[in-house]
Amino acid sequence: MGETTKIAISAAIQAGGSLFTPEQLAKISAAVGADAKIEMTTFKQLYAEVPLERRDAIKEDLERYGLEVYPAGFATKSLIACNFCKGAEETGLDTARTLNKAIAGIETPTPLKIGYAGCALGTSEPLLKDIGVVKMRDRFDIYVGGEPKGLKTSFAKLLVSGLTEDRLVPVVTAIIHFYKAHAKGKEKFNKFVDRISLEQLQQIAG
Ligand code: SF4
Repeated sequence: MGETTKIAISAAIQAGGSLFTPEQLAKISAAVGADAKIEMTTFKQLYAEVPLERRDAIKEDLERYGLEVYPAGFATKSLIACNFCKGAEETGLDTARTLNKAIAGIETPTPLKIGYAGCALGTSEPLLKDIGVVKMRDRFDIYVGGEPKGLKTSFAKLLVSGLTEDRLVPVVTAIIHFYKAHAKGKEKFNKFVDRISLEQLQQIAG
């Protein structure tokens, strides 16, 4: 194989969680080839190394089967959502899909994880993500700066509460773009939040 690149493959955001059909798994296997290693990441994406010149063809091929393909590494991950166990409407499944489309795969100074929970039980662990969205009845709360890795872990802090659905995508994308523009080198997102302060981020979100 000549030059290779890593791709991130995600299942669609759906009720039931990160589900792959047998056909999709077979398609992934066929698309990446018999020698490829496929890594299961901690953020619900499969990583696979593919020939650079076949990247776009593989992406198109997998997307035809309902899969999503994003850049690996220094980019926003696809939305790490819950299982929407309380029903699509109650948990905002369509909103989560819209949010995923808006945020997945944006190039960022460090890999960025954005979580979504359809209710306050938060089984997708939104407070351990860089940005966590929690649906509270018909409104949304946004938390920032969760860090589960290392020995200095921290929970994300509440940034905005009671956001209406139409404000969710603009606010989350504004936070991501502000981070992109103002991070110092490869500054981690939780360090960035501490340095910038919640108050200043609230103005960006407002
Ligand atoms: S966060 Fe709430 S709606 Fe989503 S899977 Fe967990 S309990 Fe169900």
